[in-house]
Amino acid sequence: MLLRNSNKVLNIWYIYRMPLRDTITTHLRDLSLMAFPNNCLVCKQSLTSAEQDICFACIDSLPQTGYHTVADNPVAQHFWGRLPFIHAAAYLYVHDGNITQDMIHLLKYKRKHHVGIKLGRLYGHRLLEAQSLIHDIDLIVPVPLHINRRRQRGYNQCDYFAQGLSEVMGMPYDPDVIVRIRENISQTKRTRYDRWENVEGIFALAQPEKVKSKHILLVDDVITTGATIESCASALMTGDDVRVSVATIATAGR
Ligand SMILES: [Zn+2]
Repeated sequence: MLLRNSNKVLNIWYIYRMPLRDTITTHLRDLSLMAFPNNCLVCKQSLTSAEQDICFACIDSLPQTGYHTVADNPVAQHFWGRLPFIHAAAYLYVHDGNITQDMIHLLKYKRKHHVGIKLGRLYGHRLLEAQSLIHDIDLIVPVPLHINRRRQRGYNQCDYFAQGLSEVMGMPYDPDVIVRIRENISQTKRTRYDRWENVEGIFALAQPEKVKSKHILLVDDVITTGATIESCASALMTGDDVRVSVATIATAGR
């Protein structure tokens, strides 16, 4: 009798062990989240066990440009007549007080590296879409900070965006192929030609063998005039048979 009951218990355990184990794991995770509050980095609402760092509502509300599928988009137009980019795009619109500005602030000044990685992963999925004009990339290169700025901040925010892109797109990123020799660009009231002269020599290609015959995806946080990216890309293009596309987290708009 005792043996039969034991077997029945074992059978019931066997039948239900998988769902029970999963349910217990889920409950434990939810309990641990209650004990150690885990909130969205952006809106501060509690995250569910399925969410990480940033809640689904915030992700859904990101103001995407769709520029990766538009050949003559405003970011690409920045470079017309300047440098022969393959394609240039920005993931999100940024303006005063919008979610993109909040996220970039967290990434740049609050050491929230996960925001950069998350944005990189999200954009990586967009860039893998069939209609994306950014494809056949060999290497991802973040625009570097000058050594003084990097020491001051402790990190380069673009590295994390590059890391997220790299994870999803399944290709390497390398923050060391380019170095920034000068810190700032002064270009007030300059003509386009003067400005081009002015941005020359800010960056230098440190490891030409790593970019030889490659299609580089150059990534930055926000594109404003495009002068910084243009300067960095021109340094990359001093390498042998280098092609460059550009992807930034954001551009001004909407
Ligand atoms: Zn949120």
